[in-house]
This record gives sequence, C-alpha cells and structure tokens, in this order.
Amino acid sequence: MNSILHFDDHFHDECGVVGVYGDAEASKLAYLGLYALQHRGQESAGIVSADAGELHPVKGMGLVADIFGPEQFKLLPGTAAMGHTRYSTAGDTTMRNAQPILIECNKGKLALGHNGNLTNANALRRSLEHRGSIFQTTSDTEVIVHLIARSSARTLSSAIADALNQVEGAYSLLLLTRDELFAMRDPRGFRPLALGRRPSPTGGESAWVVASETCAFDLIDAEYVREIEPGEMVRVSRAGLESIHFAPEKPHQYCVFEHVYFARPDSLVFGRPVGESREMLGKLLARERPAVADIVVPVPDSGVPAAIGYALESGIPFRMGLIRNHYVGRTFIEPSQAIRDFGVKLKLNPVRRLLEGQRVVLVDDSIVRGTTSRKIVRMVREAGAAEVHLRISCPPTISPCYYGVDTPTKEELIASHNSVEQIRDFIGADSLGYLSVESLKKAVADTKGKFCSACYTGLYPTELVQLEVPAAKDVL
Ligand code: SF4
Repeated sequence: MNSILHFDDHFHDECGVVGVYGDAEASKLAYLGLYALQHRGQESAGIVSADAGELHPVKGMGLVADIFGPEQFKLLPGTAAMGHTRYSTAGDTTMRNAQPILIECNKGKLALGHNGNLTNANALRRSLEHRGSIFQTTSDTEVIVHLIARSSARTLSSAIADALNQVEGAYSLLLLTRDELFAMRDPRGFRPLALGRRPSPTGGESAWVVASETCAFDLIDAEYVREIEPGEMVRVSRAGLESIHFAPEKPHQYCVFEHVYFARPDSLVFGRPVGESREMLGKLLARERPAVADIVVPVPDSGVPAAIGYALESGIPFRMGLIRNHYVGRTFIEPSQAIRDFGVKLKLNPVRRLLEGQRVVLVDDSIVRGTTSRKIVRMVREAGAAEVHLRISCPPTISPCYYGVDTPTKEELIASHNSVEQIRDFIGADSLGYLSVESLKKAVADTKGKFCSACYTGLYPTELVQLEVPAAKDVL
C-alpha cells in the first residue's frame, strides 16, 4: 500500500486569512493574497466573494494555484472577498472543514475564516448541542458561528462581540456579509492580523485589505497601515472603516514562533520585520553558543536567516552546504528499506564540495522529535564533514501549543524528557547548542513581555479548558 510521507519535523503552520473590500477585482486580489500566504497552510483553500447582495463560495483541496483558475473567478464576482488557506492532517473530514465557512442564519448570510484555536471550543460545543445546535463540521470555528446566531444583540457587530466574549484562546478572524467585512483579533493577540490599503488603479477610492502577514500586501501593491489590535474589531462598509474594542484588555501574548519559524522572513508580523528577528536570533546564538568551526551551513530554507546572523556575528564564512528541493510536498511512493533517510534525501541534498573536511556549524530553527535532525547530521557527516556542531535558533521545545499550531504531544517532543546532552547523543552531533529564552525575547525586541513562549517554557498564558482540543483536525 502506498504511504504518505511527511519529511518535516517542524511544528506545522496554522492558517492564513486575507480580506479585500472595495475593489472590482476583489476575488483575484484575495487569491493573490492567499498565494503569498500559502506557507501558512497547504491542505485546502477557499474564497467567498460578495456581490449583488449574495455571497459566492469556491473551496477546494490542495494548493491555492491548483484550486483557482479562470472558471472559478467567474463564480466569484463582486467588490469584496475573503480567503482562507488551511493546514490540517489528511482525513475524511478535511473538505468539510475547509474554510471560509458559509452559513445562513437569523443574522443573514455570513462567511467566516479563522486562524487560531479556541481552548474552550469543546465545552461550548457540548453546551450548544445540548441547546439544539446542529454542527456541520468538526472545526472550532463553527462554535463562533452558532454563538453569533444565538446572540440576542440587535446589530451584527454586537452579536459578534457577544460570541467572541464567550470564547477563549486564539483567533484572528475574518467575517464577510453581503455588504460588510469584519476583522477581529483575540484580546491576547496570539496570531497576527494586519490592515492595509490598496490604491485604486483608476484613481478612485482605495480598497481596504486585511491579511495574516504583510507579504500578502506586497504582491497586490497594498500598503501596510497598522496591526489589527488585540481585542479590536474592524468593520469595513460603504461608510468606511470603524474600529470597535469588543473585549476588556488582557496581557498580550504574540506567538514568538511566528518570528522563529512560521511567518515569511519578508513579512512584518506584530509590526516587526520577521527577517530582522531571525538574523538577530542567529547573532545571539553565536554569542551564547560559539563553536570552533570552518563554515556555517543553514538547514534551508527556514534556517537561512539565523545562519546568516550566526556567520556575521562569529566571522565564520556562510556556505550553502545543503540544497533544498522546493518541489517536495508529499510523495506517494513506498520507500525501500534499502534507501536510508529516503525522506530527508528527497528534500535536502548535501554539497560534498563545500562540506568535505570542514568543521561545520549547522544552523536550524528547531528540533521537534529529533528524528529529522539526526538524519541531517548524518547526511552532512557522510558528505565528508569533519565535525558537525548543531545550533538551534530557539530554546528547547518542551510543550505543545494550544493556540492554533499543530504540534506533537509532549511525549513526542524530544526536549520534554531529555537533557541537551542526551539529545546531542541521539542526534549524533559533536556539539549541540540552543538559544536561551532571554535571548529569544531579546531577538524579537520583547521588552514589555508581550510574547507567548509557552512551547519553550510550559507556562501557558490561559487556562487550558480542554487539553484534548488541539487534535490535528481542529487546528486551523
Ligand atoms: S505555545 Fe508556542 S507556538 Fe503556541 S502560541 Fe505560544 S509561542 Fe506560539
């Protein structure tokens, strides 16, 4: 039987959202925005447009570019649109859970797209089902839909606020109606959400755009305006933009892992350039965990900016000693036992000419289970490296995430039950060094304690109402 191989030993990306209001090409712009946000989810994607008092959906499985073409855009007319790209594990519920979710209720027709994870979704769902709600999906986002529908508030913005004040956890949320676009961020601001404007090509009024990351703005020539604030609801309509603070202030908890790994290095996330953070992570790593070596080699692509920082700080030359094949996603062929490290070899190829006889500082952005790192270290050694010193641009990952990131269980995280020396031994490196939590905070300029780092500290900023919540299928 064929198998699906995942070669990645990373925490997995969550979801990406994009919204456009006030442009004749709204659905195409949403598509381009999703295209830029593809790294945040590759399992399914969808766009809903608003036109002539109607909402039009197109959703599909797979990559954004494979789902949408000329025929699909004919089905997505109108001057407002929102899109969503989703990560989830494979399974029969996947298409059912593809977003945006489109529903018709007593508040009218609504489309919702969510990046995050609600920590009290199961309790709310049980209570709603007890009161007669019938759920169509297994996604926690639908809980928000039912809460909105059940609200007795007179306006839609009040009903949304009502619903959001009952949920706990992480959400950056877009909601499209026939004539309005809403963008909301949870009061702690776990996941990013940025606001921008796109000048009209014909000189008319600029369109409003919202996206998980600003790389989506760059592709459509939109300008970054500001972050959607934690606890803020932005409502865009013909009357313009209105900002409502729907929840009491809570201590901010921006996900630091967005800066370590998830977000694109060319994005501004939480108002800060991701590439700058990553380079600083590498510089601080070089100061804290120096190595006597000949070359610095990144594990591409995500390890590149930190390796550049490490090389700049240490003065050791930077070399692309590993080359990544960008066309590997999943493969359906069964690897022969004889082909050792098959998965990693499909993805990475060592450059023997650069590695042979060298003492190598290998820079990566994380070790999750340790199995992939072990294979990469062996690959670099087999290509002729004299020594391999592994440096990780974040602290040991000891705890799972409950805020919208797909992570293995605590038992599967190698650092949750092994010392650094035990991990080094398992991986087979000559030395292993992680960045400290203090330096991680310094690299993202977290002077006011606004970042969540619970996967490195185990100190969760919310009460975890239901620890079973982050089953992969429920992670958006
Ligand atoms: S636990 Fe880790 S991955 Fe999850 S929100 Fe906090 S920093 Fe991000």
